[in-house]
Amino acid sequence: MDDVIIVGAGIGGLTLGLALQACGIPCRIFESAAEIRPIGVGINLLPHASKELAALGLEADLAKAAISTQDATFFNRFGQLIYQEPLGRAAGYEHPQFSIHRGDLQMVLLDAFTARAGSDRLVTNQHCVSVEQDDSGVLVHFSDGPGGSNRSTVRGGVAIACDGINSAVRKQFFPREGEPRYSGVNMWRGVTRWKPILSGASMVRAGWLSHGKMVIYPIRPTGADGLQLINWVAEIETPVYRKRDWNRPGAIQDFIGAFADWHFDWLDVPAFIRAADHVLEFPMVDQDPLPRWSFGRVTLLGDAAHPMVPRGSNGAGQAILDARALTSALLENGDAIAALAAYEKQRLEATTRIVLTNRTNPPDAILREVFQRTRDRPFVSIEDVISRDELVALSEGYKRIAGYSRDALRN
Ligand SMILES: Cc1cc2nc3c(=O)[nH]c(=O)nc-3n(C[C@H](O)[C@H](O)[C@H](O)COP(=O)(O)OP(=O)(O)OC[C@H]3O[C@@H](n4cnc5c(N)ncnc54)[C@H](O)[C@@H]3O)c2cc1C
Repeated sequence: MDDVIIVGAGIGGLTLGLALQACGIPCRIFESAAEIRPIGVGINLLPHASKELAALGLEADLAKAAISTQDATFFNRFGQLIYQEPLGRAAGYEHPQFSIHRGDLQMVLLDAFTARAGSDRLVTNQHCVSVEQDDSGVLVHFSDGPGGSNRSTVRGGVAIACDGINSAVRKQFFPREGEPRYSGVNMWRGVTRWKPILSGASMVRAGWLSHGKMVIYPIRPTGADGLQLINWVAEIETPVYRKRDWNRPGAIQDFIGAFADWHFDWLDVPAFIRAADHVLEFPMVDQDPLPRWSFGRVTLLGDAAHPMVPRGSNGAGQAILDARALTSALLENGDAIAALAAYEKQRLEATTRIVLTNRTNPPDAILREVFQRTRDRPFVSIEDVISRDELVALSEGYKRIAGYSRDALRN
């Protein structure tokens, strides 16, 4: 087979490169950035995604760089404990949940890909502007970086667009798609070096979106100074939003007021926010699910195919699952066009369900439920508000839809 041309060396593109390389399917990756730098803040890999990365031989490297997250812990905005459940191996999964700096994850994938496939198989400063195809292959057209004037063209057997939320290939196939859909919630994201919180491997969600919600989890092992790099996201209902850009700087004064009295025995939240290394701002946006991804020899993968609001820790994971499914489809189908159609059939409906569930009932639905039932007041005992069975049902419901219930993974 002619090379698979992968557009974008993010989480999905690099995982696809590794999966194809492991099966002996030749590929090349073309990345818009001039240099791959470890950008971003925290990201989660749930057990369905870490299982795929373990199959690619990456579990040990990830375990060194990441936190194997132990528990999900939910509080109201008064710091009262609502619910706690074990995660990853602590919950009996065969594979861990990793919380990791996105840059560290990208570097683990990048190092493995260049070591296994060869560094000449990844070309930077190649910004895809369009794709065309004929009966025998694809032509992918690039400029030297976004807006660059030097053009080049690469020929391959199929082209896979892993070019993220602003995918040029998605725009080519859906030119009238329009602007992203704003959820009404803005996010401020940052990292703070801080002493371990709760178990030191806890994923904390607290408060609710109308008054301010925080998600907090560590993403690197404790350093010699006893501190961890801890990721946090402040999420607040906000009427307007600015363009989605992963690198847009944010300002603490724009949101810290919502958390001014969050002084808890498990964390002084305002002091923790003020100690941040840096702050980014990102609107909680997604796009309506597409009716199709595959057009002959070209298809979409990861955020290019199914951008979702980041409320279920599934963005990176679903890109990784796409990569696995596409690799299997290429192995199982002699015909490339049939392979891309089979991949779409396997993944489009599954990811559509997740995109839509993330809008309505992600794991933080637990917080919404308690917020509404208590009318945003402290409770005497959580059992008076909601039963343990109801809390478990809310949590397990999302796992089933997102494909990482323990039973689904065992099978
Ligand atoms: C700079 C950056 C920072 C991020 N930070 C976070 C974070 O902190 N937390 C989080 O949860 N998620 C973050 N994400 C998004 C997260 O990586 C994805 O949601 C998820 O992992 C799915 O991965 P993906 O491969 O589909 O997209 P991405 O990981 O976004 O990868 C897309 C890749 O395609 C490249 N690209 C874009 N356009 C073109 C083009 N026209 N031609 C060639 N290459 C192109 C991009 O430079 C990027 O390398 C970030 C993404 C980026 C690009």
